[in-house]
Parts: sequence; structure tokens; C-alpha cells
Amino acid sequence: MKWSEHKDMNFPWGHQKRYHSYPELYRSKFGMRVQKVAVDAGFTCPNRDGKVGRGGCTYCNNDAFNPSYCHTGKSISEQVHEGIEFHHTRYRRARQYLVYFQAYSNTYAPLKELKRMYEEALSCEGVIGLVIGTRPDCVEDEKLEYLSELAKKYYIKVEYGIESVRDDTLQAINRGHDFAESVDALRRTHARGIPAGAHFIIGLPGENEHTLGEDISIISSLPLESIKFHQLQIIKGTAMEIQYREDSGAFHIYELAEYLELVTRLVERLNPAISIERIAAEVPPRYLASPAWEQVRYDEVLRLFEKKLEDKNTWQGRLYQTNQPIEP
Ligand code: SF4
Repeated sequence: MKWSEHKDMNFPWGHQKRYHSYPELYRSKFGMRVQKVAVDAGFTCPNRDGKVGRGGCTYCNNDAFNPSYCHTGKSISEQVHEGIEFHHTRYRRARQYLVYFQAYSNTYAPLKELKRMYEEALSCEGVIGLVIGTRPDCVEDEKLEYLSELAKKYYIKVEYGIESVRDDTLQAINRGHDFAESVDALRRTHARGIPAGAHFIIGLPGENEHTLGEDISIISSLPLESIKFHQLQIIKGTAMEIQYREDSGAFHIYELAEYLELVTRLVERLNPAISIERIAAEVPPRYLASPAWEQVRYDEVLRLFEKKLEDKNTWQGRLYQTNQPIEP
């Protein structure tokens, strides 16, 4: 089928783009552009403090992802206000904000402490909801019950680091949980009416185009509102940097063109109900131990991805097997 014929089909994301983009998802939900503002609330992670493991995931250095205005020395409301100002000076002014609890595991604290932090964020002017990044093994039922109560009044989303559907990969990167725990957390979240997002890393050792082509059907069956794909990058100061320096041949670091080809193929097989929030990560080059994409900014990566979909006359879900149910 050609795209021109396809336009008559009733896709949930409308027809502006060839994929279910996250701005379109949020515009359809909120009727306007909504800006995310990241905060660092000072959480740690059970894969670092010894509860689950020590040393963390082999690729992890949270400093590489934290915006400059995030600082645990400031209160959450100070970070929200500074974040809003930061975005005003760079982008078109938004009127509504989601506070993004981003660094480390943002449900890893007693419920009383979580309530104080989340409610401080929600009390800031213009804030209409929260996006809470965490691990699948950090969402006890009492926390989800509380979030489902909050979700009656605000937009509340839980964003899980899942990274891979393969247990041997998860073990090799020292995630400290298996894929079954991710599925369990997603089901318990979905059962309470809370939307969920997920991160996956493309290019982890032991995975390739063939394995990912199989895994995308599993990913498509998960109860997800949105998804982020990140290309594997070797970040300085991580266990993976040491492994990479000892044996770089064990890693395949995708070049941009090759990566875009792979992501396009995965997106063709991805459930069209899942909104795509990112197709790649962007890390300041000073953090990178592996080759960077020649200073290409994310906006340009996204533009090239969209052009690739055009050139190939394809779109998200074109090859999705609709007989795979999305199970709650
Ligand atoms: S990636 Fe997340 S789960 Fe892994 S060590 Fe870092 S903060 Fe913890």
C-alpha cells in the first residue's frame, strides 16, 4: 500500500507524520504543547547502594543525562522554576509543564518521602503532571496505588528502564532484574490506569539486527503509551568504558546511517499504538568514550529519520503483525 492510500486509514496519531510522535500524543491529550522539566530529587538506585547490586548498570553515568539546571542542592520547586526559565530562553513558551523525575530511580524511597516530593512538584505553577523514571523492581503496589490516586487529578506517567527483553543481555549489563520483572511492573501499572513508558538500548553486546527484529514483536505486545530508543554509546566513567577499552571488538557502535536504517526497520514493525518519544540519545561529546555522530544534534537525527521513512515510503507499524494482542 502507498502512503497516499494509507492516509485514509484511521491512525490514532493523525497524518502529519509517518510515526506516532510524542508531541502529537501530548497535543492530542492536552490540546497544546506541553514541556517536560527535569529535576534531580537526590534519589539513588538499588543497583548501586547494595540492595540489588553494587556498581550499577555497566553503561550508567547519570551525569551524562542530567540537564545543567538539575542539582540536588536545590529544592524541587527551585529546580522546576529554573527549568521553566531555562526552556523559555531556548524554545517557544509552553503554558503547561510536566515535571520529569529523571536521575536514578525515582520511586526508590519510602512512600511518605515520595509523596512530599511529588506533591511539591505538582504545587508549582503551570505543572499539570509528573513523569517518573524508575526501575521495574522499585514499584511496590502501595506506590502504584498512590500514583493511581494522583492520576485522577494529574497526568502521571511511569517511565521504566527496560533496556532489553533478553535475560542474558540484562545479566551481562548488570541490570539486577530480569525481563519478567519488567513485564510484571508494566502490567501492575497498566492495571491501575497509569500510562507507562519504556527505554530500550539498541546495540547492546550480543544483540543485533536479527535479534532486535525478533524482539520488536515482544516490545509491541507490552502495555506501553510511549517508547524511547537509545543507541548504545560508551560513556566515560562506566564499567562498560573499561570493557570497551579492553576489547572494543566486542562492541558494535552504530554509525548514524546504519543506525537510522535499523531504527526504521524496527519502527516498521512497532505497534502503531505506541508513541515514539525518542529514537536516539544525545549525550554531550565530552562524556563519550566511543565515537560521536560528528556533532549531529538530535533534531537533525530526527529529521533524517523522518526523511528515511519518506524515502522508503514506509511508516510505523507497516509490518506490524496485528494478530499480536496488546495484553494488559
Ligand atoms: S541505569 Fe538506572 S538502574 Fe542502572 S545503575 Fe543507573 S540509575 Fe541505577
